Amino acid sequence: MKINRKRKIILISLIVVMIVFLGVNYFLTNNKDYVDISYTKFLDMIENGGIEKVFLSNEEKIEGIFKDGGYFKTDNPRTEGFKEKLLMQDIVVEESDGNTTVSDIATSIFISIGFGFIVFFMYKNSPRQAEKEISKISNIDSQGNDLSKINFDDVAGNDEAKESLKELVDFIKTPEKYEEYGARMPRGVMLYGPPGTGKTLLAKALAGEANVPFFAVSGSDFIQVYAGLGASRIRNLFKKAREAGKCVIFIDEIDALGKKRRGGLSSGGNDESDRTLNALLTEMSGFKGSEGIIVVAATNRIDTLDDALLRPGRFDRQIEVGLPDVNARHKILKLHSKNKPVSSQVDLKRVAYQTVYFSGAKLENLMNESAMIAAKENNKEITMKHIDKAFYTVIAGEEKKDKSCISSEEKRITAFHEAGHALVTKLVLPQNRVTKITIIPSTKGAGGFSMNIPPDKMYRTKDEIRKNIMVSLGGRASEEIIFGKDNITTGASNDLQRATEMALSMISRFGMDNETGLVNYEVLIGNNLGSNAYIIERVKALIEELYIKTKTILEDNKHLLDEITKVLLNQETINEEELDVILISKQTDVYDNTLV
Ligand code: ADP
Ligand code: ZN
Repeated sequence: MKINRKRKIILISLIVVMIVFLGVNYFLTNNKDYVDISYTKFLDMIENGGIEKVFLSNEEKIEGIFKDGGYFKTDNPRTEGFKEKLLMQDIVVEESDGNTTVSDIATSIFISIGFGFIVFFMYKNSPRQAEKEISKISNIDSQGNDLSKINFDDVAGNDEAKESLKELVDFIKTPEKYEEYGARMPRGVMLYGPPGTGKTLLAKALAGEANVPFFAVSGSDFIQVYAGLGASRIRNLFKKAREAGKCVIFIDEIDALGKKRRGGLSSGGNDESDRTLNALLTEMSGFKGSEGIIVVAATNRIDTLDDALLRPGRFDRQIEVGLPDVNARHKILKLHSKNKPVSSQVDLKRVAYQTVYFSGAKLENLMNESAMIAAKENNKEITMKHIDKAFYTVIAGEEKKDKSCISSEEKRITAFHEAGHALVTKLVLPQNRVTKITIIPSTKGAGGFSMNIPPDKMYRTKDEIRKNIMVSLGGRASEEIIFGKDNITTGASNDLQRATEMALSMISRFGMDNETGLVNYEVLIGNNLGSNAYIIERVKALIEELYIKTKTILEDNKHLLDEITKVLLNQETINEEELDVILISKQTDVYDNTLV
């Protein structure tokens, strides 16, 4: 538990830095030359954008900083909404009691001593982690030095994500080629999906395949105690990356620094992460296409990300990295059994079936636990018994509602629901492609089915919109047919939202309802259509009518619904060809695709 010399030196220098910082801070706060300006002038300057920051207080006078750095004082209006007014003008607002008092200084000192202790204990308790931290602060390039030896063969499943990334390998290797053709090199890739699904692994594999250095940081590393440090570390990171030449920069947990900014309402400390985010965006737009640097970011909360991050020229390539289906799980299990003495009796396919909703990381963990148990028992080989034991260790301690424990009944409901959507699509909109049906939850919802709407279309017909509404209702209709009226679930809530939106548009904007006529109701009654009883009545009637039609179609083709569900429960995902095979093999009289 001894702290070695290097760490001691770092610790001492940290404390010295802190003391100097406090001293300078104290000196500055007590040597400010305040200009006293009139309140009207102050208001003028707010309008003209001349104010940088205002310290709100309850004193007679408030203080602030001009854009050019000078300090000022003016009368305190003490009105309500004053703070919001400032925030609306993009002025930084800090609540303070105005004067730096002795107690303030004492608090700061206490805080820094406390901080010092925390750092101290951090070193003491986990020297490894501390060393990592320090290396991150002092020289980020430590991770960039060794070339990543991981390649795409080390990632099992995730085929779509792999394909997308493979395209980039050539970009990184020979950016000149693409530049010659005037192609713009992608700058940023956003990998999103649940934890442990291999996002980091994919980014490393990208670097490995392109044979370039890999720089990894985490968004949470940038949440700093002192202002400006995050931004300067971003600049530092990119500087190091540029020095390395071609490379892959990986930013894990990007949501930690790129959360949606919610209007001007939050005044609490997000200033710093904004600055870090801006630094990142500036660095990224500073790339020349020919540099061969790609920034890969990962998040499991893409919905919370600031839109600025996802705009063109930034992380404009977004790739979902989802939970593996049974085939992918089988592959991952095989991959992580390679270097282990797994008995030939072990049926990994069966294990794959038992591990629904497991992420790649969890599967890796499962094989590792099995190996540990076998080793502890001094067995020569890992047997099914060990894997079973490990299974319970891995899922133990997880929350009940964790997806790995979802009952088979819920799986059946999801399967029938998704099969309903897919079958209705195939029956009423055969020109639309169903690319995938799955019961594996994704960021978008419980199960999922994806449909490609033919893109080369300028207009949509009334008939098409009606059929699209039916597709949305297909999930609920299927649930009702199979499980009965009283057992329908909340799984359809997004579907109903979409159906309602489409129906409302037909009636209020497109003049597609005979009874409501060729009238744009937004023009007539404004945006609040949802409160109009007549409109509600018509929307309801339309959806009602289409729901009955949807149910009829599904009832008429129930054998297909059963078959799709059966396969879905067995394989967890069905792709287009497989779906077509099911439909053809069951030789149905194709539903006559007349107007519905
Ligand atoms: P994420 O970044 O998505 O949270 P990681 O890439 O850190 O996930 O995955 C953690 C570990 O889980 C990996 O190092 C690897 O051992 C295992 N793993 C995850 N996904 C896969 C996969 N698709 N193929 C093989 N191993 C995987
Ligand atoms: Zn649905």
